[in-house]
Amino acid sequence: MPVSGLPPYDDNNIFARILRGEIPSKKVYEDEWALAFHDINPQAPVHVLVVPKGKYCSFADFSAQASAEEIAGFIRAVGKVANQLGLEAPGYRMLSNMGAHGGQEVPHLHIHLFGGRPLGRMIPGA
Ligand code: AMP
Repeated sequence: MPVSGLPPYDDNNIFARILRGEIPSKKVYEDEWALAFHDINPQAPVHVLVVPKGKYCSFADFSAQASAEEIAGFIRAVGKVANQLGLEAPGYRMLSNMGAHGGQEVPHLHIHLFGGRPLGRMIPGA
């Protein structure tokens, strides 16, 4: 069931296809709950995407419908990826775009992890 007012999950979105192994990705981490891979168009020296393995369109969908186990597994995976990439000591930014105003392009929940340089304050141009 989609979250009220939002479209249903699209099985052919690009991250669903990456999860099924139909198209390649530069994988950095995988466990039962999540897959992490390098963004194809990096916006920082480190730009990695972490996606849950379940079919969730966005954070709205995931936060409302995922099980407690899936939520814990995914959030822990995001933390492990940041740790394994060596981002914790220098610091990093995590971000998830939601819907049209959020600028979401791929309708499968993903957390962006940015790092490798000072990232400035919040939203550029704001
Ligand atoms: P968003 O705007 O939050 O939906 O971000 C989608 C992100 O997916 C963008 O940063 C794209 O560069 C990235 N992206 C799109 N296709 C691929 C792909 N095949 N492999 C890795 N990253 C991708």
